[in-house]
Amino acid sequence: MAPGVAEIQRGLAAGKFSSVEITQDYLARIAQHNPALNCFISVTDEIALEQARRADAALAKGQAAALTGVPLAHKDLFCTDGVKTSCASRILDNFIAPYDASVIENFKRDGAVMLGKTNMDEFAMGSSNENSCYGAVANPWNTECVPGGSSGGSAAAVAANLAPGATGTDTGGSIRQPAALCGITGIKPTYGRVSRYGMIAYGSSLDQGGPFARSAEDCALLLQTMSGFDRRDSTSAERAVPDFSGALGEGVEGLKIGLPQEYFADGLDGKIAAVIETAIDELRKLGAEVRDISLPNTDLSIPTYYVIAMAECSSNLSRFDGVRFGHRCDNPVDLEDLYKRSRGEGFGAEVKRRIMIGTYALSAGYYDAYYLKAQQLRRLIKEDFQKAFDSVDLILGPTTPETAFKIGAKSNDPVSMYLQDIYTISLNLAGLPGMSLPVGFVDGLPVGMQLIGNYFDETGLLNTAHSYQQVSDWHLQIPEAFR
Ligand code: GLN
Repeated sequence: MAPGVAEIQRGLAAGKFSSVEITQDYLARIAQHNPALNCFISVTDEIALEQARRADAALAKGQAAALTGVPLAHKDLFCTDGVKTSCASRILDNFIAPYDASVIENFKRDGAVMLGKTNMDEFAMGSSNENSCYGAVANPWNTECVPGGSSGGSAAAVAANLAPGATGTDTGGSIRQPAALCGITGIKPTYGRVSRYGMIAYGSSLDQGGPFARSAEDCALLLQTMSGFDRRDSTSAERAVPDFSGALGEGVEGLKIGLPQEYFADGLDGKIAAVIETAIDELRKLGAEVRDISLPNTDLSIPTYYVIAMAECSSNLSRFDGVRFGHRCDNPVDLEDLYKRSRGEGFGAEVKRRIMIGTYALSAGYYDAYYLKAQQLRRLIKEDFQKAFDSVDLILGPTTPETAFKIGAKSNDPVSMYLQDIYTISLNLAGLPGMSLPVGFVDGLPVGMQLIGNYFDETGLLNTAHSYQQVSDWHLQIPEAFR
């Protein structure tokens, strides 16, 4: 069983199977394989089957919406009404969200079925999914390796076909990097395209939700439902959402693609570079014009991001204080003791590290030297892209400098972990859309190629990825143990 979202829609419409049947199949696969992968924090069997029954009734009456009856998994960072929403943190281990995130509301409106909530790095901080209070997630291609992070549970679930699609969030690469490491497709839309309402905040000026699926075609379907203006998110973009699926099939004839020389320099594994070159040749054969470009401030993106993201997270995470919701320590002697022990017990090591660095960067006397400086560099990074888009339609490069690494290999070296995001982070700083699609393997592990678009050009990305996926089948591969 390896259907994607579009295939499931066709099967449901043709009456080949019911939503209850396909939902049961996925729940059975989750029960069988989740122990090896640890990609789900909660499996919502009862909700899923109830939603599937309602979907079948709607289908029978000819009242299907865009995704009626399609089972999906959601990163455990989207608030889900009446369902535990933990962000993989001890501090929210007992938190039942009292409302739905806009993204979840949209999926309900369009008839999708929720299979469960997926594992992640605590509060989306990480690149390996090892920073979870529920333990690390394994990569389905090699269970000794990480699936990437922070949306590693969602990516592993789709890669192992425990769900045909899933949601993720991307603050510095957390959709694209796990998509690359797990051999699937994922898109981070333009900042403002998808509402952040009910998406637990990490770095508010960087966070964007987006989908994972096998193919660009499936991502287009999921992104359609996720997108749109939302007055409850003050940074939501008030602009029309194009028909993403309708734009697929336009081809890439005459498309001008830029290759940033900085993305192919030292630090990129040579075997990955070779795989990407082969994919670029395919796009050339399809009619794309490829030229070299430069994004000269690329090397500033990691330090800039880690100052801004940590500053923002130190502020965002101040709401977890043991008073209103979440974990509270036993027998506090006074308010300060309550704060200190609740937060001390509730947050994991990486989250604490970031809150401390962020608080330091924002403190009086240091603000100008760190936060303000980082905002100035952010502007330079954004201008690099704007200049590049004067001469090209789309930018292409690797998603990650390496393939999936062994669990534990970088746990004691945060800087080497942070460097995993070298090609993905600058898009979040600029607010641009990006996606990763599988283009081959190195030593049995998947390689992702990243496409970067101009503002609100998700259609350009999806169309290019779709064109490539019409002539390749990397996106259809499922690791042997999960077939
Ligand atoms: N790895 C980056 C970080 O740790 C990005 C995470 C993300 O996109 N949520 O901050």
